[in-house]
Amino acid sequence: MSTAIKLPSDSAKVAARDLVAGFDVERVRSDFPILHQRVNGHQLVYLDNAATSQKPKAVIDAIVRYYEHDNANIHRGVHYLSQRATEEFESARKVVQSFINAAEPREIIFVRSATEAINLVAQTYGRQHLGIGDEVLITAMEHHYNIVPWQLLCEEKQAKLQVAPINDRGELIPAEFERLLNSRTRIVALGHVSNALGTINPIKQITAMAHARNIPVLVDGAQAAPHVRIDVQQLDCDFYAFSGHKIYGPTGIGVLYGKAAVLEAMPPYQGGGDMISSVTFEKTTYNKLPHKFEAGTPDMSGAVGLRAAIEYLNRVGIENVAEYEHELLTYATQKVSAIPGVRLIGTAKEKAGVLSFIMDGVHPHDIGTILDQEGIAIRTGHHCAQPVMQRFGVDATARASFALYNTKEEVDVLVRGIQKVQEVFG
Ligand code: PMP
Repeated sequence: MSTAIKLPSDSAKVAARDLVAGFDVERVRSDFPILHQRVNGHQLVYLDNAATSQKPKAVIDAIVRYYEHDNANIHRGVHYLSQRATEEFESARKVVQSFINAAEPREIIFVRSATEAINLVAQTYGRQHLGIGDEVLITAMEHHYNIVPWQLLCEEKQAKLQVAPINDRGELIPAEFERLLNSRTRIVALGHVSNALGTINPIKQITAMAHARNIPVLVDGAQAAPHVRIDVQQLDCDFYAFSGHKIYGPTGIGVLYGKAAVLEAMPPYQGGGDMISSVTFEKTTYNKLPHKFEAGTPDMSGAVGLRAAIEYLNRVGIENVAEYEHELLTYATQKVSAIPGVRLIGTAKEKAGVLSFIMDGVHPHDIGTILDQEGIAIRTGHHCAQPVMQRFGVDATARASFALYNTKEEVDVLVRGIQKVQEVFG
C-alpha cells in the first residue's frame, strides 16, 4: 500500500517520538497496543471507530504519568502539586484552543462529552432564548444526541423542532435548509459529519445563511474532529462540540467551544464549586469564563489524556490523516459496492470515515455477528440515528468506520468477510 504521505514541514520541529517522517501506517499501528491481538482466532480488524477510537500509547502513558506525578485538585490549592495539576489542565485547554483555532482559551469549556456539550447549550442558551412558538432547526441526519436535547427544550417551551430534509445520497439540500430559516428560528444545530452516513455538511455555507438572519449555529463535531481540520473561526459557528474518546483520547472528557461573547451572555449550567466567584445565602456571583460552565472537580486526567491525543494527531498531521482516510474510504467504497447484493447507505460527494451498507436477505445484526467470528469489529443497528434509517427505509445498517490506523489490507479482510456472510446465507 502507498504510504507516501508527507508530514507537514512544521511537524519536523515537533519531537516526533512516535512517528518517523512521512505517513507510515505500520508505524502508526505500532503506537496502538490494543490493535495487536487476536479475536476469535484472527488478527483483530477494528472498524468501529465512529463509536470510539483506540488510544495510542502516548495517551495511555500521559494518563499514567499524571496520576504518578501530578495529581491534585486544581484551581484552589496553594501547594505545589495543585499548581502543577492546574498548569497541566490549563495547558490542555490551550492545546484544544489551537487544535480548533479558537480565538481564546476561555472559549474552551471542558465537559464530559459531546452529549453534555449539546445539553449544556440547550439548557442555557436554549432556555434563555426560546419562547412559545419559536423554532429550533436541525437536519434529518442528526444523531439522537442532537435531537433529544432540543425536543426536551421544545416540549418545555412549547416551541417547534424543524427538520431540514436530505436527498437520496444523504446530503443536506441547502435551499431547503434556507427555506426553513425564519423569524421564529432561535438556533440551528447540525452535525459536521454524520455518524450513520459519513456525509460532511457545508458548515460555512450554513452559518452564513443563519447569521444573515442573526441565528446562532451549534455544530456537533463528534464525528468530524477525528477526520478533518477544524477551524471554528473560519467556520464561524457559535458553538462546536466534540468528544475526546473519538479522537484517540480518553472517555469522560469532551469539549464545548463557544464564542466568548455568546458564552458571556449565557446563564450557568450546573451549580457547584469552581463556577462561582462568591456565595452568600442571599446572592451568588458567578466565575468568569470558562470556569462559569465547569462546576465541580473536572476530569483532570481526561484533559491531560486529550492533550496527549491532540499532540499525537498534530504530530501525524490532521491533513495527512484526512488524505489517508479519504484514500481508504474510496478504496473500501469501490470494493464493497462491487459485491453483488450489497447496497451502500450514504453516498454523499463529501464523506468522511464511514461506510454504511445493507445486504439482500441478511439482517445487519447477522452480518456483524459473522464478521465478529472473523475478528472484524463493525457496528450494526440504527447508530443512534433512527430518523436516518426511516429516511432510507431500513431498520438498521452495518457500518464500518475508519481511523488513521486502518489499512487497505483490512478492507480486503472486510470484503472477504462480507463474501463469507453471503456464503452462509446463500
Ligand atoms: N454526535 C454524533 C454525530 C455522534 O456520532 C456521537 C457519538 N456516537 C455523539 C454526538 C455523542 O458523542 P458522545 O457519546 O461521546 O457524547
